[in-house]
Amino acid sequence: MSAHRLKTKALCRRWHRCSELGEETISGPTSDIVVTNGRLVIGPQVIQGGVAIKDGVIAAIGRESSLPDSKEVIDVAGAYILPGVIDPHVHFREPGLTNREDFASGSTAATIGGVTTVFEMPNTVPPTAGADAVMAKRELVKPKSLVDFGLFGMVGQTNVDRIEEMAEAGVIGFKFYLHQTIEGMPPCDDGALFEAFQRIAAVGGVAAVHAENPEIIGRCSAHLRAHGHSDVTANIAARPTVSESEMVARCIAYARAAGNRLHICHVTSAESVDEIASAKRRHLPVTAETGPQWLWFTEVDAAEKGMVLMFSPPFRSEGDRKALWDALQDGRLDMVATDHAPRHREEKLVASVWDAKSGFIGVETNVPLMMGAVDQGRLSIQTYARISSENAARAFGLWPRKGSLLPGSDGDLTIVGVGAAHAIEAERLHSKAKVTPFDGVSTTGSVKYTILGGQVMMRDQNVTGSPRGRDVVRA
Ligand SMILES: [Zn+2]
Repeated sequence: MSAHRLKTKALCRRWHRCSELGEETISGPTSDIVVTNGRLVIGPQVIQGGVAIKDGVIAAIGRESSLPDSKEVIDVAGAYILPGVIDPHVHFREPGLTNREDFASGSTAATIGGVTTVFEMPNTVPPTAGADAVMAKRELVKPKSLVDFGLFGMVGQTNVDRIEEMAEAGVIGFKFYLHQTIEGMPPCDDGALFEAFQRIAAVGGVAAVHAENPEIIGRCSAHLRAHGHSDVTANIAARPTVSESEMVARCIAYARAAGNRLHICHVTSAESVDEIASAKRRHLPVTAETGPQWLWFTEVDAAEKGMVLMFSPPFRSEGDRKALWDALQDGRLDMVATDHAPRHREEKLVASVWDAKSGFIGVETNVPLMMGAVDQGRLSIQTYARISSENAARAFGLWPRKGSLLPGSDGDLTIVGVGAAHAIEAERLHSKAKVTPFDGVSTTGSVKYTILGGQVMMRDQNVTGSPRGRDVVRA
């Protein structure tokens, strides 16, 4: 029996007296909504049955015949029922950059894409770099959000001493942009980085890092510019694999000494995967994400498609791409995050790569794409449930409230099917900016329903709920 299965059984025993999930129904009293005729993905098991939710919380799971009565019953016709998907890396651009996105448009895209919780990044205007900014952002976005959310606090060279107040204000984690100055905040030097990790260890927080070496990138970029290189491949040449993997290794070394939890954002290379795997073998609390863009595209695609694939960190080799898929399947990488970062055409599809902005929309297309990959046998559905929800919840201290279908967890469900191939159409997506390299890409995955706290937020690609998102740390 796997360690994971043992843990699932132990949890199950603690809350109920059942010998084996799926053989008995775990039931409670009447419920507010029952979802039937699905395939529940629970740890290593896939169980035919349904879920009952009462007062926003999962009340029972199991075979239909034994689920409690309910006012509302939804027959999902054999679709998979996953724990509500968490996107642990989105930029909804509010406050200050709302011409690109805001919490209303971003969370609409998220709920249509099957996402129930997002962790939102702090590089806004002003940046979310102190307790006042955290609290102001929470008040601003909560009335608009169709999804639950966590807010990252930003740490740079000049605000290491504000870590404790941001922890007190309830951030989901601390984001470090180590590759460049963001909104006037220079990246931490090594001294500030190590001190920040020590402070984060003391408050029990998570340090999340954009791990790229600014000195290597700066020198390479200057050299390439001086020699007249300006297409998208120059951005790739300016950011060699070692500029990522060295910074990953450096952060792991400091986190090991400081004793904090460390999360590596958007891993793109096999070398970085090796560093993370080595840390995991030493039982260090290190987690890491990659995104669908690096799982789909390579440097060859970038050379062909041009500026739409301008991204930092950039696209790598086919060997790197394969390593990312393998690492998701075997657990060396923990989760899929989209780094949803809306950019308008005029910001991105420009003549010179030195003027182009990194990023594109992703929160709406991630689940359909990844479910298509499950359908093709690239990942198991059980692995997908872990990397789309459970592992993010565990890494950021939300499990089993999030990332679980067991009774007592939040009533968040992502209900997905596989079937006929359909092409993603950028113009039909719900972000304010429409630029995505997935325009025209075909997938067989589709999201049928998004349920947040027992409320149907999306049905057949139509929003059916109103804003009810909560800050997951404060809730
Ligand atoms: Zn990002």
